[in-house]
Amino acid sequence: MIIGIIAGIVYLIIIGWLGSWLAAKKGYSSVAWFFICVLTGPFGIIVLAGAPSQYTELYLEEIKRKLDSRSTENQLNSKPINPIPSVKLSGKTWFCNKCQTENAATANSCKGCGEYR
Ligand SMILES: [Zn+2]
Repeated sequence: MIIGIIAGIVYLIIIGWLGSWLAAKKGYSSVAWFFICVLTGPFGIIVLAGAPSQYTELYLEEIKRKLDSRSTENQLNSKPINPIPSVKLSGKTWFCNKCQTENAATANSCKGCGEYR
């Protein structure tokens, strides 16, 4: 009888410990899940095992936020690539030695990098 009670308590402690360990690993309250697993037994563990990790969700949200900010950055950067309407190069042109950009013969400095010819 006593051994049965002790075995039951040990079993519940192991279940509770396992639940709290799993909960902590997934970013849930380990204290709350200790008691949930003690009360529900293996069912708590199964539910917890199937529950998504909050760390994973936070991580994914962080990635999504980074991608969003990057795409808005790209939109901001891509629009005024060349704010000055480019003059069509006519006649003689010269190529920059530094960046190989083609420049108008009238330009004294490279439009790509600012290097003087
Ligand atoms: Zn250049």
